[in-house]
Amino acid sequence: MKTLLVTGGAGFIGGNFVLDALASGGCRIVNLDALTYAGNLDTLTSVSGRAEHAFVEGDIGDAEGVRRVLAEHQPDAIINFAAESHVDRSIDGPAAFVQTNVVGTLSLLECALTYWRALPLERQDAFRFLHVSTDEVYGSLGPIGRFSEESPYAPNSPYSASKAASDHLVRAFHHTYGLPTLTTNCSNNYGPYQFPEKLIPLMIQKALAGEALPVYGDGRNVRDWLYVGDHVAAIRRVLEIGRVGEVYNVGGDAERENIQVVKAICTLLDERRPLADGRRRESLITHVRDRPGHDRRYAIDASKIKHDLGWRQTESFESGIARTVDWYLDNQAWVGRVLDGSYRMERLGA
Ligand code: NAD
Repeated sequence: MKTLLVTGGAGFIGGNFVLDALASGGCRIVNLDALTYAGNLDTLTSVSGRAEHAFVEGDIGDAEGVRRVLAEHQPDAIINFAAESHVDRSIDGPAAFVQTNVVGTLSLLECALTYWRALPLERQDAFRFLHVSTDEVYGSLGPIGRFSEESPYAPNSPYSASKAASDHLVRAFHHTYGLPTLTTNCSNNYGPYQFPEKLIPLMIQKALAGEALPVYGDGRNVRDWLYVGDHVAAIRRVLEIGRVGEVYNVGGDAERENIQVVKAICTLLDERRPLADGRRRESLITHVRDRPGHDRRYAIDASKIKHDLGWRQTESFESGIARTVDWYLDNQAWVGRVLDGSYRMERLGA
């Protein structure tokens, strides 16, 4: 049975990864998470107490703590999800992004390198450091074209700049020291357990409550949306059969303007929970001042991971958004505890 050190496994994508890996079996998870505002142990309730899941509250930038975890649990791989991840927060306060995404990742890489070098040879060969990153590092596209793994980096927000720096450090640790790294650059994710500050869960909650739906600028910014379960499957595939030192782009072939995404949510909620006063939810859409430096369009060419590793997304945007709306409707208790802050009050046992 393999042991995976997952960082940021109480967050949105890391949490989905942990739940999926434990449901599939065959691995132990050591889940290292600093429990920032984005870390939510409620997401992990169904696996708390499982012998295959050890939760450790800690910071990837705390080298001593990370060394202790590595020595105690002897992982076969590290999957680094831990990050500050919200673009708007990075505009208000970039320093935390540099601290975790750049300084923290560097510290984690240094600990991983020391640990990897001390492993017996056969375990060294099998070891992997998988860094989970974003398509935002490539900057903004015009109306045509898609990002490939060869696209030049041109990050435009403090968030994407910090992720770009972390990607470069991961690359350098492979080329300079031989650490067996892999990097994935994925498009926008959506699905269960996403913190309700991000576009899709935010709009679901506001639309459900019959509140105004604030859309940045003209709403015509395009993102390529991928259901989180498909991203998790891609990460597992890269971990299992990806080529060391390589980068894999992951995307959903599902480009949508933000306004289309919001209208899709409105339609689904009107069908499932009509507003008592009979209003259509699209009437709640209000355009607000655009995000500074807002990238116009992202689109991912995922042919490398499809061709080389045989990964395919299973959800279309239409099926994925319907599943997501239904999940939020069925899990209002989870959302409620985020919104009233009570999710931060409790801690799981080890
Ligand atoms: P998230 O904000 O939901 O979760 C981040 C998790 O990391 C939280 O549990 C938080 O407590 C933890 N964390 C933060 N700082 C930490 C630190 N210093 N040490 C240990 N843990 C720390 O983020 P997410 O949306 O799940 O994204 C996960 C990763 O995937 C990030 O690296 C992000 O850049 C990348 N990514 C996200 C998307 C997306 O659409 N959400 C798309 C592509 C890539």
